[in-house]
Amino acid sequence: MPSKPPVHQARKRFGQNFLVDQNIIEKIIAAIAPAPGQNLVEIGPGQGAITGPLLEKCGQLNVVELDRDLIPLLQQKFQQYPGLVIHQGDALKTDFNQFYSNGQPLRIIGNLPYNISTPLLFHLLSFNQQICDMYFMLQKEVVDRLAAAPGEKHYGRLSVMVQYYCKVQPLFPVPPGAFRPVPKVESAIVQLHPYSEPPWPADDLARLSTLVKTCFQQRRKTIRNSLKLMMNPDQLHRLTDELDLDLNLRPEKLQVKTFVALSNHMGTIL
Ligand code: SAM
Repeated sequence: MPSKPPVHQARKRFGQNFLVDQNIIEKIIAAIAPAPGQNLVEIGPGQGAITGPLLEKCGQLNVVELDRDLIPLLQQKFQQYPGLVIHQGDALKTDFNQFYSNGQPLRIIGNLPYNISTPLLFHLLSFNQQICDMYFMLQKEVVDRLAAAPGEKHYGRLSVMVQYYCKVQPLFPVPPGAFRPVPKVESAIVQLHPYSEPPWPADDLARLSTLVKTCFQQRRKTIRNSLKLMMNPDQLHRLTDELDLDLNLRPEKLQVKTFVALSNHMGTIL
């Protein structure tokens, strides 16, 4: 008889809210539809609530877990699966290219620690060429921000930058009672599907990123005001003359493709 896995106390600083609702777990797995031969990576397996069903369906899985104390528990719980590879470390610092070795694009899954979800999404976008799709449990408000359209309350830097790279599909809400300990916030599952080619390619991603950041740092101001921080008055005049865009708009009104067009045009002037 295998011995019982060690008991683990949930740690707040690692954002540990473990999924305990079987119906929700089944719904997540059904949405992902894992299959043998796919290249699955789970971020933050925790005590293995999603890890187990993923292994059952796929047999092969890389997981990245920061909490050292969970590693023996995972090793013991899933010792019958030789295809489970456990990487102890910080997903924010993980080179996800290392999982791409068999030439299969990555399917990334995670009930993510909410305190690091935004920087982690930005980190993952830097590997977008290697990623087939991603399924994340996030704070519902973050999912709203990811999916927001121009003019909507939650539209901001995260919406623009993630929608530049990915098709965003919110899937379903998850109530606090599905976790232990019970979190204070509502959660939701979102699917992100990176485009093989971005529909509106930016000439310079760093410039686009700075532009979007600058504009939303002062979201109550007009685009013109934000551009003053990036261009001198002559350059701004030229831009106003050459580009068919009302610079008196606020950033929340601009579509992703308009930010890209603006950034690309700035490149011809700066
Ligand atoms: N997947 C499990 C579940 O659904 O029950 C656990 C989810 S819990 C919300 C988040 C998990 O991410 C925890 O296991 C936590 O230790 C881990 N974690 C936190 N920060 C991390 C990081 N920077 N890199 C990798 N894992 C992290």
